[in-house]
Parts: sequence; structure tokens; C-alpha cells
Amino acid sequence: MDFAKLNKLVSVHGTPSLFLSQSRLRESYRSLAYALPGVELFYAVKSNAQPEIIDILQQEGSLFDICTNGEIDIVKQCGVPAEKCMHTHPIKRDSDIRYALDFGVTLFVVDNEFELSKFLLYKDRARLLVRMSVQNPSCMVNLSHKFGCAPTQTFSLIEKAHGMGLSVAGISFHAGSQNENPLKYIEALDFCRDICRKAALNGIILNTIDIGGGFPINYLNPVLPIQRFCQPINEYLERYFSNYRIIAEPGRVLSGPCMVLAARVMGKSLRSGVWWYYLDEGLYGSFSGKMFDHADYPLLVPRSGETFNSVLAGPTCDSIDVLYENIALPQLEIGDVLLFDSMGAYTTASATTFNGFPKAKIVVID
Ligand SMILES: *Cc1c(COP(=O)(O)O)cnc(C)c1O
Repeated sequence: MDFAKLNKLVSVHGTPSLFLSQSRLRESYRSLAYALPGVELFYAVKSNAQPEIIDILQQEGSLFDICTNGEIDIVKQCGVPAEKCMHTHPIKRDSDIRYALDFGVTLFVVDNEFELSKFLLYKDRARLLVRMSVQNPSCMVNLSHKFGCAPTQTFSLIEKAHGMGLSVAGISFHAGSQNENPLKYIEALDFCRDICRKAALNGIILNTIDIGGGFPINYLNPVLPIQRFCQPINEYLERYFSNYRIIAEPGRVLSGPCMVLAARVMGKSLRSGVWWYYLDEGLYGSFSGKMFDHADYPLLVPRSGETFNSVLAGPTCDSIDVLYENIALPQLEIGDVLLFDSMGAYTTASATTFNGFPKAKIVVID
């Protein structure tokens, strides 16, 4: 983060602002594409649906993972053709399936037999991936709590779909978001191998494996560089799935690093010996990711010197709106601008305007 440059931008755009770095976004996409050669990357729009992000990723060659009619509308408005999209929500209404089919999407995800029946009407227009659950309780965000068919049940669901005359392309999974352990993918791929073998023995040819998202980024703790993180996954794919179509659905790893938040100290107070600083952005805004996504963002303060036990809080009147407690900070002044890094994923996407505070403005830079 270039403090001087960002401060200049803040003086023009005010706070709270999320600065969206085009070059960082392009760099993240290119690094991931390089780290996962031959893997089709479908950006998970859910993580940040800002149209500029979709535009830039489309220019870089990205494909798109959409889950809802609303997300279809967003990519459509950005001129993304349906051939570049897949639908990954395991639970859909008939009207949702039709909306996606009418747009032109053909690849869908299911994880149970009730969902299979919904596709009987659209047999010839839809291909299915069966979502398998991956247990990862130690992960920051476990995405298999709510969706996914147990690995031991996945083959029988595929068999059932096949028996109903539905076209099953393969298996998808999500190893958990901000998953810091690449071996979780290997564990899931081991199950996929088994399932594909069983399917082949029963005359069902699967040709697609979707390894989902989950790729981690640096927050307060550094993670493995993406190239190293992906190395065991690549080796496994090369060895056992070289003739398969491989898909990934990266969200955070693309949208996370590209935004920096600038927020300002609105007021301060010394309460029972602790310095409280009230910022103009909080838990109901871009920091909603602290709540829903369990993320802790690296912060930069504009002062140095002796530090004191401090609290950073958001602007709303709710006591839950506290961002950082028990942190050592130099004395801050009202009007100081603080910067928070890696605030692109699951931040503005889940922000609200609670208590009358508008969402942070998004400013595209470089
Ligand atoms: C949220 C989600 C993603 C993106 O996950 P990240 O951890 O942000 O990479 C991908 N696929 C599905 C099905 C999701 O629900």
C-alpha cells in the first residue's frame, strides 16, 4: 500500500472508500491461472459482484460462477455471454432453473435426489455436476455444513441421475473458504477418483471435476504463495485426471486482495483506561466480513510512537459494532485515516446501510 498515494485519493474521494486496484486484480487472476494450468477458472461472483471486477476479469479471460437470478442479471449487464457461466447453487426453484436456462447456462449443480427431479423437464438442456461434501471443520469458513452429498453417497446419486436419463458431467466440491491446507483438495480428489472408477464400471462416463474455490489469501497470518499452494493439486490432477475437464470456482483469491478500505476516525474517548476510536465504517458496512466471513483484516495506522491499549469500533449505535479490541495503537487523532488491506472479498458484498450509514464508495484506481 502506497500511503502517500492513497491519502491523496482519500482527499479527493473522502471516506469510507474502498479502492479497487485494477492491477492487483489482474495480477491475482494471472497468478492463479499460472498456478493452475489447464484449469478453467469460474470467478465466484458471490464474493464481490462489483461490475468493474466482472469487466476486468472478463478481459483477463475468466469465466463466471453464478448462483442466483440476481447474479445472472449482473453478469448479463456486463456483457458476459451465458457460455462463460455455470450455475453452482445446489438448491433452486423451478423458476431459477428456467431463468438460467433462458439466459443460456447449461451446467448446473445438484446435491440430492429432490433436486434431480427438478431437471427431468430440462433433460436435454442441462448437464449436472453432483456436489460432494468435504469435511473441513478447522477451516475459516466451512462450506460443506449446508450443502453437499456425503462422499459415500455420491456415486449412488450419480447412478440415480443417470437412471433418470439426466446427463451427469461429473463431481464438484468446495474444500472450505480460506482453506489453508492444500491436502483438503487431495482428500476430496481421492474420493472423486473412487467415484469415477465406480461410475465407469457401471457404464457412466464422467468427464468433469470441479475443485471449487477456497484458495487462501494473506490476512493477518501469511499463507502459502498460490503457486506453492496449488502444486500438490496440480500434480494430483496431472497424474489421475489428465483427460478430464477441470474447473475451479475461485472467489476470495481473486477479489480479496484487490481492495483497500480507507476509514476515518470520527471520534475518540478514553474509557476505563482504554482508548476507543470510532471509525466511519464498521461491522454493518464493509467489515460485515468480520461477522459473516470471520476474516480479520491487516490494518495500517498513520502514526507511530508509544502505543496504548485501544479499541477500534464502527459508527453505528449498536454495541456489537466493534472491530478490533485489545490492540496496541499509537494515539490517534480525530480525522486520521486508517487503511485496511485485502478487503475485497465478502465485505461490500454483505454490507448493509443499517442505522443510515451508506455503503462505502468504491473507487477504481490504477
Ligand atoms: C462461495 C463459493 C465459492 C467461492 O469460494 P472462495 O472461498 O471465495 O474461493 C465457490 N463455489 C461455491 C459453490 C461457493 O459457494
